[in-house]
Amino acid sequence: MQLQNKVALVTGGALGIGAGIVELFAREGANVYILDLDKEKGEEKAASVRAEGGKAEAFCCDVSRRETLEHPIRTVADRHGRIDILINNAGIYPRRLFLEMTEEEWDQMQTVNLKSMFHTCQLTLPYMIPQRSGKIVNISSVTFFLGSPKLTHYVASKAGVIGLTRTLAREMGNHNIHVNSITPGAIQTEGELIHANPADLAAIMENQCMKRRLQPEDIARVCLFLSSAMSDGMSGQNLNVDGGLVLY
Ligand code: NAD
Repeated sequence: MQLQNKVALVTGGALGIGAGIVELFAREGANVYILDLDKEKGEEKAASVRAEGGKAEAFCCDVSRRETLEHPIRTVADRHGRIDILINNAGIYPRRLFLEMTEEEWDQMQTVNLKSMFHTCQLTLPYMIPQRSGKIVNISSVTFFLGSPKLTHYVASKAGVIGLTRTLAREMGNHNIHVNSITPGAIQTEGELIHANPADLAAIMENQCMKRRLQPEDIARVCLFLSSAMSDGMSGQNLNVDGGLVLY
């Protein structure tokens, strides 16, 4: 097991990609903590992990509101005396044409997808720094490379995630803390089912090297790599996991 007894926080771990990460990390022996807005689904996911012999617990919090994160993160750190891994995955992606977008919609996107990472990193790093180890993985998006229409607010937030990753990696290297990001392609999740257009998904499949829909576990495996000793030589990097859609 690659994460035996490691302590991991996964934001947005109740559904979709985050749930895939929670399941895989638990199978790899980690103590996994779900930080999610959806109390019921978070608790269901944690219970299903425990039913399979894994260690998981859910906290209901809104990553865009720092005060809801403080207690859960402190509780985890007090219980284990450490936090080894932070996966910043929670995000939203409602589509809107730029000229129809309200200022509130723009702000909400930046707050949930980007500023949330400012909160979670600031609250977690004070535990990682004294232990002289830590792995942070930030979930961006392949749309950063594609510049997809109706998603200016989203792509701007996901570009910010890459910038945050690179700069925080520079600041944290002296503390032996690794900060990397992943740009997922089109992943079959609950959220994507609501927002994506079937014609767009067909075009994506056409352009992927791999002719299958990517699943949350495809992202979870790369997350595991970036959270384990296997990636100890990497920081400030992005790994693009899109079935071979964008080649760079
Ligand atoms: P999803 O909608 O299926 O699940 C998102 C989870 O995050 C849910 O459990 C939801 O309750 C939680 N969440 C949302 N807002 C929250 C908040 N304010 N505080 C706490 N939890 C919150 O989404 P997904 O498709 O699994 O996407 C996960 C991440 O991956 C997002 O950051 C998304 O931008 C990114 N991503 C997804 C895809 C894709 O194709 N699905 C592609 C690229 C990037």
